[in-house]
Amino acid sequence: MSSPLVVAIDGPSGSGKSSTSRGVADRLGLAYLDTGAMYRAMTWALLQKGIDLDDPDAIAGASDGVTVESGTDPLAPTIHVDGTDVGEPIRGHDVTAAVSLVAAVPRVRQLLVDQQRAAIAASDGIVVEGRDIGSTVAPDARVKIYLVADPAARAARRAAETGATDTAATEQSLARRDEIDSNRAASPLVRSEGAVVVDGTHLTLDEVIDTIVGIVDAAR
Ligand code: C5P
Repeated sequence: MSSPLVVAIDGPSGSGKSSTSRGVADRLGLAYLDTGAMYRAMTWALLQKGIDLDDPDAIAGASDGVTVESGTDPLAPTIHVDGTDVGEPIRGHDVTAAVSLVAAVPRVRQLLVDQQRAAIAASDGIVVEGRDIGSTVAPDARVKIYLVADPAARAARRAAETGATDTAATEQSLARRDEIDSNRAASPLVRSEGAVVVDGTHLTLDEVIDTIVGIVDAAR
């Protein structure tokens, strides 16, 4: 029997990974894992505990005591910290502004990558979205996608999602996260070997999903 299908979808902030990944999983009857939500949940927990997020040692020390649980239903993704539903607060400004600092800490990555690999191993097929899925979490994934879009399109999409009116500020915030995510020492955002680049700048969400489903079908 061939191993379960794993589809890795990586790319910079605001490239449309979440909507795309959920849509692809739904179309193909696969599970779905949002690894960004896990880093956001860890960040929310550390903010609640009053940890100094400019101190990587403090982050590493406190992260061991946090339990993050994510559901894998693409139609109803869930995320909990120590039993509390944090689906809404992890999308807030405070978490968004701090998450890249937390995600740069190797101990945090080790804890969450272990959980992500366990979720992949427990599935019968899964779409996993993030920054380091094709490079680190699941380097043997059958399909690897690197989803991009130009900065203005990403900012417009993100502003529409959050209701922000200042798209220039949104573009700056995305650029700042990309900068930290791409330059950190521990599994930075990269286009992994073998990843197919999909540029969604001039495509609708359905067109991006169709494109990726076509790539997956060709790989089966
Ligand atoms: O995808 P999302 O924007 O929710 O991710 C939030 C942050 O989590 C990213 O900016 C990045 O710092 C971190 N992240 C990561 N590795 C992943 C997924 C997300 O470092 N696989």
